[in-house]
Amino acid sequence: MGPEVDHELVGGVACLGEILDGDDAADAHLDLAEVVHRGSHVRIIERVADVFHRPVGWEIVPGERTFRVQWDDGKVAEYDWEPLRRACPCAYCSGEGAFAGNVNPDTKFSEAQTTLKEVYVVGRYGLTPEWGDGHDTGIYTFKLLRRAAGLD
Ligand SMILES: [Zn+2]
Repeated sequence: MGPEVDHELVGGVACLGEILDGDDAADAHLDLAEVVHRGSHVRIIERVADVFHRPVGWEIVPGERTFRVQWDDGKVAEYDWEPLRRACPCAYCSGEGAFAGNVNPDTKFSEAQTTLKEVYVVGRYGLTPEWGDGHDTGIYTFKLLRRAAGLD
């Protein structure tokens, strides 16, 4: 290894250091409090926060028959399976136009109908649960879920 190779290596490390210290990398590690503290980013962050929050994780909890969602603002909400199924926003359940829908406050569900099997992401705005009876046409938007939990 000659001096020239050493020089190249040192140069490469210096470049990597610059990339790591760049604005993008630093911003990626900021949490909301730090961004607000910095001042210059407050407006952008607040506008985004006002529009809607996204889940950062969720968990189906069969023992409690609940669906637990962790939101990007650190809040956690729990949605019990039966009320969640009853609130299914699809056209078949909640109706559309003149059609009243098949689900109302008196609807009796079977255990399968209120058993949450799986949850899928829909685009960048919602979740679709798959129920024990195979029903999976309801798209619960993040907005709807936040409002249902009293978070927005
Ligand atoms: Zn439905």
